[in-house]
Amino acid sequence: MKKIEHIGIAVKDLEKSNKLFASLFGKPHYKTEEVKSEGVKTSFFDVGPNKIELLEATTADSPIAKFIEKKGEGVHHIAFAVDNIETEMKRLKEEGFILLNDQAKLGADNKLVAFLHPKSCNGVLIELCQERD
Ligand code: ZN
Repeated sequence: MKKIEHIGIAVKDLEKSNKLFASLFGKPHYKTEEVKSEGVKTSFFDVGPNKIELLEATTADSPIAKFIEKKGEGVHHIAFAVDNIETEMKRLKEEGFILLNDQAKLGADNKLVAFLHPKSCNGVLIELCQERD
């Protein structure tokens, strides 16, 4: 893994949170994007070498809706940049990590993504992401 690509934060109201985090960082988010397959609307902030992704649920059964229901708003996942997501998924599987998806899928911000189950990472949801060409 190369570096922390972004940290995902689950929020109830994306518009409100965009304002809050813009005040925090001293600059606005640079994009918003809806990922229909995941039932989320996201926005991204550039913070030095890393990004912050805010996630709002768009459907009641979205993973983000379930997360907020259980734990409230807050840090949802940490995403790590990888060069080759297939190779990394295979390596981690062999190391005994539980992957939430068998195949890399299309995520926000033009990335191929895969998730590791929090159960196998001390309670932290880990996202792998590879830049798409
Ligand atoms: Zn993410």
